[in-house]
Amino acid sequence: MAVAQSDTVLLDVKGLVKHFPVRKGSFRRVKAAVKAVDGIDLFIREGETLGLVGESGCGKTTAGRSILRLVEPTKGEIVFRSRRMAGGTAGEARLVDVVKASRSELKALRRDMQIIFQDPYSSLNPRMTVGGIVGEPLLVHRIARGEERKKRVQDVLGAVGLKPEHMKRYPHEFSGGQRQRIGIARALVLDPQLVVCDEPVSALDVSIQAQVLNLLEDLQREFGLTYLFVAHNLSVVKHISSRVAVMYLGRIVELASTERLFADPKHPYTEALVSAVPVPDPDYSVDRIILQGDVPSPVSPPPGCHFHPRCRYAVDVCAKDAPLYRDLGNEHFVACHRADELHLQPIHDQTSGQPGGAAA
Ligand code: SF4
Repeated sequence: MAVAQSDTVLLDVKGLVKHFPVRKGSFRRVKAAVKAVDGIDLFIREGETLGLVGESGCGKTTAGRSILRLVEPTKGEIVFRSRRMAGGTAGEARLVDVVKASRSELKALRRDMQIIFQDPYSSLNPRMTVGGIVGEPLLVHRIARGEERKKRVQDVLGAVGLKPEHMKRYPHEFSGGQRQRIGIARALVLDPQLVVCDEPVSALDVSIQAQVLNLLEDLQREFGLTYLFVAHNLSVVKHISSRVAVMYLGRIVELASTERLFADPKHPYTEALVSAVPVPDPDYSVDRIILQGDVPSPVSPPPGCHFHPRCRYAVDVCAKDAPLYRDLGNEHFVACHRADELHLQPIHDQTSGQPGGAAA
């Protein structure tokens, strides 16, 4: 995790909302909305990795894709410190609101903001060679053709541990781990600043997960990358992230440095997630907290604190008022009415943080 990072904020997200309309009836009228992302705030500094973790369906993937405008946000502000001018040429760093960016600005931003997808099987075109897949963004952005394009593709394949001869092969000829390396090469060929890693190892075998995570860390050091690392596995997030944001039903409920989040969780939902991480010490037992009930529907989330029907510390106010998302100090943000008074269970500090542990 020892990656150089600066104090410069690369990405600043405020009040990000993404609601998907639910249409019903013969006229397909909008009857409700799936509140996938319901007002999140976060920032990422240059060179750091922010982990975004939560159960399936909590909105973390939608949040990552909204930040890149792969899905259109419903509202909010996404300010990115871009070094590209419209047209793609490098220039002085300037702040761009991704939500308001024009088509040409967005195209230029695509060079700086890339994504690695979860599934290395379905995210690669089976009819294209690896050289074609990795080199395609260079054609789309009119950066390189012919021999220069070939050279750039070879270089980035080398950086992810693949060989020049792999350029002529097709995705089906590779293992899962190698395919994910191809996906990483495709994301890096444009020399981006920010990479959204959308569950990049969850489809891989445990032994391969560690290799890909180590590769991502090496690439971050080599190319000065900044990651938003989306995952449901807290062990994986702990391994790679300098800070962690925990999402529940479309909202961030806690965000802190990785050490602090594990040593001193302040939100009951985080406490439950942290208690599920296995401890590699046979003499140490942690009381695993089993959350009662199902995750409520994001179409009609519970009033007040979304987590209150499952929270063992809930009091009357929790069902009425949504808790403020506030900084408790040292950039430890939490949304819980009782954050100041609760003494929640930390995790044993000998945890390895190696991948392959419990999923959230
Ligand atoms: Fe639990 Fe209340 Fe805190 Fe929500 S606000 S996490 S219900 S104690």
